Amino acid sequence: MVRSPAQPEGRTRTDKARRTLSIFGATGSIGVSTADVVLQHRDSFDVEVVTAQRRAEELAETAIRLGAKHAVIGDPDRLEVLRARLAGTGIGVAAGPAAIVEAASRPVDLAVAAIVGAAGLEPTLAAIDAGADIALANKECMVCAGGLFNRRAAAASVRVLPVDSEHDAIFQSLEANNLHAVERITITASGGPFRTATLDEMRRATPAEALKHPRWAMGPKISIDSATMMNKGLELIEAHHLFDIESARLDVLVHPQSIVHGFVTYSDGSVVAQLGVADMRIPISHCLNWPRRVETATPRLDLATVGMLSFEKPDLQRFPALRVARTALENGDWATNILNAANEVAVQAFLDGAIGYLEIAATVEAVLDVATGTVGGTELDTLEAVLALDREGRRLAAERIDSRGRRAG
Ligand code: NAD
Ligand code: MG
Repeated sequence: MVRSPAQPEGRTRTDKARRTLSIFGATGSIGVSTADVVLQHRDSFDVEVVTAQRRAEELAETAIRLGAKHAVIGDPDRLEVLRARLAGTGIGVAAGPAAIVEAASRPVDLAVAAIVGAAGLEPTLAAIDAGADIALANKECMVCAGGLFNRRAAAASVRVLPVDSEHDAIFQSLEANNLHAVERITITASGGPFRTATLDEMRRATPAEALKHPRWAMGPKISIDSATMMNKGLELIEAHHLFDIESARLDVLVHPQSIVHGFVTYSDGSVVAQLGVADMRIPISHCLNWPRRVETATPRLDLATVGMLSFEKPDLQRFPALRVARTALENGDWATNILNAANEVAVQAFLDGAIGYLEIAATVEAVLDVATGTVGGTELDTLEAVLALDREGRRLAAERIDSRGRRAG
């Protein structure tokens, strides 16, 4: 038996013709696509809150275009810019991480979680506690606190609708009446910019090369995660929590064309998949409008033009991050929490030029090795425990990067 995002059944909130909505991370890649989807069906949504970290100008513009009631900026130094841009509009402004969490407590039908990294955890939990269904793009908050996240969602009986394209494909492929007949769930991976690269080429890879994703235009963090395939590892962990399925029944398949986003294998031998062009407005629209389907302004899939779909097994030698993430998933929440924290630090260090591309996965693996002996098995029952372990993962990663830098220098 697996779980479907359509559960719990019998709730009507998401069936309302007009929905109230908040967007956390409104200036990012997902946030901008979300605004697009909302604007195409302007009469279906009332936007309560939009947030961003630093881009006050873009946030103000988004708030005005969407007719939001409140705009909140994470960085307090950007508040004056936001205030000036929104003067006379009647849109409320606030700043700071606590203000974002407070804004997440405002009751809405649906909260779009599109902040990047573990920074999105507290606002998302606050939105859950306030009774909002969650359209989840921010996979890191599942990876660092999956158990806690699910317990809080169940306690508030809110739905978690997956925006991540692979998980939305699984959501679409799950037949509500046949959840007991699911044998396996498969998520696909484009393989990223280094799908065919040699280890030697990877050793020399620059941030600019790693950021150049062949199929999707995304924020920098997830783009680097795609290059290392850590993104697929995070998505395995996300799938485990979203669909309540164990690692042994979860597969990753490399599919360079990014047309088939995921599929479910049923016990009668049927395979049900979701296909579409690589455009995040499709899964976003599915989550925002579910259980209805509405028109999107995305190109239509033309399979004759695509011509060929190909599939291959991921290469765990060249993409060790996938193996490391799978092991963390099997070791439990403490391990995925450390995995995520170390990865966030290592990705930033790579983008800053402090470590090489191959050092990203190596750092995460080394941190997990150390952490197994010190914090292995830590229970993550509370937000405080989650945040404390996250800090420890970041500390261990920074320490390792620092000591290697000193040795190299
Ligand atoms: P992005 O970097 O483009 O945008 C991130 C957003 O979060 C911005 O609005 C930024 O202002 C905000 N933000 C950053 N740090 C913050 C902080 N500390 N506190 C509060 N807000 C902060 O990222 P993105 O590509 O839009 O990805 C967002 C999330 O969605 C990530 O978790 C990513 O893994 C996931 N996701 C993205 C895509 C995609 O196509 N971009 C696809 C699937 C899942
Ligand atoms: Mg994805």
